[in-house]
Amino acid sequence: MPEGVGEEGPLGIFGGTFDPVHYGHLRLAEEAASALELAAIRWIPAGQPALRDTPRVTAGQRLAMVRLATADNPRFEVDASEVTAARPSYTVPTLERLRSAAHCGGRRSLVLLLGADAFAALPGWHRWQSLFALAHLAVAHRPGFPLDRAQLPPELAASCRDRFCSTPAELAAAPAGRVVTFAMTQLAISATRVRQLLASGESVRYLLPDQVIAYIRSHHLYPEH
Ligand code: ATP
Repeated sequence: MPEGVGEEGPLGIFGGTFDPVHYGHLRLAEEAASALELAAIRWIPAGQPALRDTPRVTAGQRLAMVRLATADNPRFEVDASEVTAARPSYTVPTLERLRSAAHCGGRRSLVLLLGADAFAALPGWHRWQSLFALAHLAVAHRPGFPLDRAQLPPELAASCRDRFCSTPAELAAAPAGRVVTFAMTQLAISATRVRQLLASGESVRYLLPDQVIAYIRSHHLYPEH
């Protein structure tokens, strides 16, 4: 481990609405952990998402589904702090809280995991330019969202230009500031599509874990209409 960087290995940070969690999320986290040599992945379900419509189910129910989906993976941990907070969820303040000494401190390598769609939307995020001082960004390819640098918003392309790297060692060597892309198994699954299928009474089997489907059924979430 390079001198000056935390000894525990890079920690993946995976935020999202998870409304509901599905296999696209799970494969992203699993493949990021392997490809980027992350010690663990911390899932952080958003409380009140800042940039989207009110979720269809409660924050507590989204959290419960993430817990069910991740329970049998020892590299996955679930952070309920955003779900229980009485404030909107923004990624930069969340990372600032994680950087406090009580959590990770300033030296540990933190790797924020994003799908290509979320990455391209970064310039709309609250204080997005501060992200690079707080964490590395690891961007997963996602069907329908090309990661061609020429097509990125110009301000994002300019901010990332000198930050791209390609090896896990480069992420481990500094606490923050690099950008890496990785090619995960392409799964055209979205929570939007899962909700649409549930609303029209169609099968969602094999798009998300059976335990999550059972939870959705027993709590009558995303009702048919
Ligand atoms: P919605 O359809 O409601 O917008 P979503 O399926 O995109 O939801 P989110 O909870 O918004 O799910 O996503 C959390 C993170 O996971 C985001 O960074 C998103 O880009 C990424 N992600 C979600 N699904 C996939 C997928 N199939 N492949 C790659 N990345 C994904």
